[in-house]
Amino acid sequence: MEKCYICEKGNLQQKKVEYKLYGISLGVYAAEVCNLCKETFYNENESRKMTESAKKKGLWGLKARTKIGEAGSTLDIRLPKKIIDFMRVQKGREVEIEPLGKDKLIVSF
Ligand SMILES: [Zn+2]
Repeated sequence: MEKCYICEKGNLQQKKVEYKLYGISLGVYAAEVCNLCKETFYNENESRKMTESAKKKGLWGLKARTKIGEAGSTLDIRLPKKIIDFMRVQKGREVEIEPLGKDKLIVSF
């Protein structure tokens, strides 16, 4: 049995694993899972299928960079069009914002 590439102690086991992107299931894929650290490895073919599924579901390329703008005495964050379309965000919609440490901000609808 093959050893884990990460912890180098556990054994890799063949499993079918559900893969989620942004909390949305992309399906179930063949993977090798470490019985110790639980690290999951997908081969190139399975990775390609996951990418295709993400594209089909409109989840591909949603991660984006944006700039903080100024609006009077406050600052605002512009949302890219693909995020607006995916989340169906509208102007005036109320959101809850909450810092997660000093380098992450959670925006909840
Ligand atoms: Zn491991």
